[in-house]
Amino acid sequence: FWEVSYNIAHVMHFIPVSIQTAAAVQHMNEMLDEPTRGSDKPNAPELPRVENNISFDRVTFQYENSRAPVLDNLSLKLDVGKKIAIVGPSGSGKSTLLNLILRLYMPDEGKVTIDGVDIRKVTRESLRSHMAVVFQENMLFNMSIRENIRLGKEGATDEEVVEAAKKAEIHRYIMGLPDKYDTQVGERGDTLSGGQRQRIAIARAIVRNPSVLLLDEATSALDQTTEAALNATLFKLAEGRTMISSTHRLTSVVEMDEIIVISGGQVIERGSHAELLALGGTYRELWDNQGRHTADEDDDDEEDDE
Ligand code: ATP
Repeated sequence: FWEVSYNIAHVMHFIPVSIQTAAAVQHMNEMLDEPTRGSDKPNAPELPRVENNISFDRVTFQYENSRAPVLDNLSLKLDVGKKIAIVGPSGSGKSTLLNLILRLYMPDEGKVTIDGVDIRKVTRESLRSHMAVVFQENMLFNMSIRENIRLGKEGATDEEVVEAAKKAEIHRYIMGLPDKYDTQVGERGDTLSGGQRQRIAIARAIVRNPSVLLLDEATSALDQTTEAALNATLFKLAEGRTMISSTHRLTSVVEMDEIIVISGGQVIERGSHAELLALGGTYRELWDNQGRHTADEDDDDEEDDE
């Protein structure tokens, strides 16, 4: 429960404040750790664009109620325009890296910079205007599909919503529904399959036309066939953007431009899939283990049809 609530709470940062007044939503906000996130400095400038790189400069970070730092003096430079995977053992801090890029939390030491500018120094709104994020659990609200997609960008036109749905490759499915874009999504989106929910979440992300697309285990809850289909869509959407994907499902990272392996609070390996396999280190180990898990899963996997 904690984990799901935590993820939902994070989704709220990307939902317009006007909708956040619902009582349920307020409850979720209360679960957030306000003090760790911090607000804008007076007269903070805007971040105009994300042009060259996103960097971690000797970042140490620890959650308030945890015993040891998750990231320990970690340095990492991510080039804009690439498809990058963040992998590592469970609990190694993959999601934490994304949280820091989004300024959902701030480093205890060191800094996260974009094109050399400390992201603490710019307005949070301008920082996030360049970004969109797709989580493993994405909250769908009890309203129409159109409105659910529009949550990604306040004031998006109907055309923009349709365009985003086309890019997320869910438009045809929506047009096949009796009420099309006016179809009410049931509470928790129960009427849609896991893959369809994720595609709506992708449409919600892409309607923002983000230059940085962050994926936090975005396809990990899906069966392998659905996952592969979604990854194909995401790869197309990554063209001309930066895609940073935190995942423990390694099949989805094989074709990434770069794979970053974190463990023990540090970056321990980085390279392409082929390079890291040849290196014979932690990635190789994760890959070999994953092969075994995947084979096990296949035996009793239930198809989660799209
Ligand atoms: P997984 O692969 O299991 O999703 P991860 O690599 O994404 O893990 P994180 O979610 O970044 O790892 O978590 C890193 C560590 O910080 C874990 O030990 C986790 O339990 C802890 N942690 C994560 N979020 C919080 C939080 N909000 N408060 C306290 N501890 C947290």
